Amino acid sequence: MDVAALAMGVAAGDRRALARAITLVESGRADHRGQALDLLARLRAPGQPAAGRQALRLGLSGTPGVGKSTFIESFGLMLTAGGLRVAVLAVDPSSARSGGSILGDKTRMDRLSRDPRAFIRPSPSQAQMGGVARRSREAVALCEAAGFDVVLIETVGVGQSETVVAEICDLFLLLLAPAGGDELQGVKRGIMEMADLILVNKADGDLRPAALRTVADYAGALRLLRRRPQDPEGFPKAMPVSALAVEGLEGAWAEMRALAAWRRETGHWQARRAAQARHWFEEEVRQGLLSVLAQGPARGRLADLGAAVEAGRMTPEAAAAEMLRGLA
Ligand code: GDP
Repeated sequence: MDVAALAMGVAAGDRRALARAITLVESGRADHRGQALDLLARLRAPGQPAAGRQALRLGLSGTPGVGKSTFIESFGLMLTAGGLRVAVLAVDPSSARSGGSILGDKTRMDRLSRDPRAFIRPSPSQAQMGGVARRSREAVALCEAAGFDVVLIETVGVGQSETVVAEICDLFLLLLAPAGGDELQGVKRGIMEMADLILVNKADGDLRPAALRTVADYAGALRLLRRRPQDPEGFPKAMPVSALAVEGLEGAWAEMRALAAWRRETGHWQARRAAQARHWFEEEVRQGLLSVLAQGPARGRLADLGAAVEAGRMTPEAAAAEMLRGLA
């Protein structure tokens, strides 16, 4: 593979090159891994046109049926109509088990997928969590290098996927459906604490009153959370939208831009990206160490200690401490 040519294609914003580049970072093959690292390094090399590019990375979480794909289609088309280039990716660990895929079916975003300013990447069909995280992060970096203004990262919010998305995005959006007040308890507190904007979708027709009540409930709940240093007054915020009727989307976008601008001015934006970079560095080292150990001269000891833990002869903590003592 000609990695230099691929890097040029990505930097030029060519969607086919971008799709091939993402396939490359998704590959589990060792030789592909080397090429993927080469590609990412080339795109980020100082002086390269792609080096300084930064997209607005938006994480979007919501349970199935809440209207994520309808929202992405309407919101994405609004952004592209405004001249912005929009990429859509998915973090979908559930596909590892079910074989299904939240973005596998492109017809869900039919119009956006045909928009020349948009790029939609169906989620890959298999991987464990660590692999999902790495791939998603690198795919975001590739979209950014390709000059996309907004990268939407969608997740169905099962297992750890929200945490992964939160560690990749600049702003985290939580999409909810209208509900009775008692359902507020159903949203895990941790997820609410991650959200920058809670968008209550389907605020149209008969559902509008329930949606407005839900917004009020969440606004109340958000006020009870401790104010985060990375937020100006009034954030996180809850708002009604209708992805289907295309209502409230301009307002939501205005809030996102205001929050992003405030964080840039106050340095929180850069601090978050720096902390994320450090997190991913440590995560890579952690996973790399395990695979080095499993393949290197210490693999016998790793296997023995693992067996001892399994047989109940050692506690996991004691075995891990023993393993690490041998390395220090
Ligand atoms: P996803 O599973 O989160 O991607 O949800 P979808 O976008 O597939 O939407 C699930 C269902 O909700 C579909 O039947 C949509 O037509 C409907 N839906 C999505 N957004 C809205 C909305 O704003 N208002 C109404 N009334 N229905 C909506």
